[in-house]
Amino acid sequence: MALLEVRKLTRVYELGGEKVVALGGVSLDIEAGDFVAVMGPSGSGKSTLMNLIGCLDRPTSGAYRLDGIAVETLDADGLAALRNRKIGFVFQQFNLLPRADARTNVELPMVYAGVPPQKRHEKAAAALARVGLVDRQGHRPMQLSGGQQQRVAIARALVNDPSIVLADEPTGALDSRTALDIMALFQALNAEGVTIVIVTHDPEVARHARRVVRFRDGHIVADERQEPLDAREALAGLDGAAAA
Ligand code: ADP
Ligand code: MG
Repeated sequence: MALLEVRKLTRVYELGGEKVVALGGVSLDIEAGDFVAVMGPSGSGKSTLMNLIGCLDRPTSGAYRLDGIAVETLDADGLAALRNRKIGFVFQQFNLLPRADARTNVELPMVYAGVPPQKRHEKAAAALARVGLVDRQGHRPMQLSGGQQQRVAIARALVNDPSIVLADEPTGALDSRTALDIMALFQALNAEGVTIVIVTHDPEVARHARRVVRFRDGHIVADERQEPLDAREALAGLDGAAAA
C-alpha cells in the first residue's frame, strides 16, 4: 500500500454559472520516502491537487487514501485532525506570523495539537536545529533573510512529525542560490526518510527530486523517475566558480 493513493480525483469549480474543471480525473500513488516534483503550466491543476492531498479541500469525485485512511469518509473535524497530524505545509510566501519569533511560529501546529508548553518548546528547538537555525529562535521573520524564513516554515512543517511535506513553489520567492540551499535541505530531510512533494515551475529545482510528475489541463501527462542532482554538490560548484 502506498502512503498516498489518489484515484480518479476530479475537482470542478463553479464560477458565475461556469464550470471550471481544475482536475479531470487524476490517479497517482506516492510511496513513503519518495521526493516528487509536480510541474506544469500555470492553471494546470497543481495547486488544486496539493490542496486535495493536503486535506484542505474536498474532491468533486474520486477517492483518496492517506496512510490507509479513506479521506472522503471524514467530517470537517476529522479532516482537520488528519491534516494536523499527517501533513506539513510549506508555501511560496512562507506564511509566518510577523509578530511572533521563529520558535513561536514553529510551535503553532503543536498549539493546535494540544501539546503542553514545555514539550512544545523542546520540539520547536529541535526542529529549528534540524533546519540549521538553532541560534535564530528569538528572531522575528523581518529579522531573517528569505532563505531563513523558509527554513523556519520548513521547521514548522516538520514539527508534528508528518507523514508527508507538501510544498507549493517553496523556492518561488528566493534567488537561485538560496533556492539551491533550500533544495539541499529538502534532500537531506528526504535522506532521513521524510516524504516530500513540491510544486515548481522551475526545471532546475525539479532536477533535485527523484520523480517528476507533469500536469497539463488538469491531467497527468508524464510521470518519470530520474537520478536526482545533488543540490549540495551544485552549491559547492557555484562557490568554486565564484572563487575561480
Ligand atoms: P496551478 O496551481 O497549476 O497554476 P490551479 O490548481 O491553481 O493551477 O488551477 C487550476 C484551474 O482551476 C485554473 O483554471 C484555475 O483558474 C481554476 N481555479 C483554481 N482555484 C479556483 C477557485 N477557487 N475557483 C474557481 N476556479 C479556480
Ligand atoms: Mg498553483
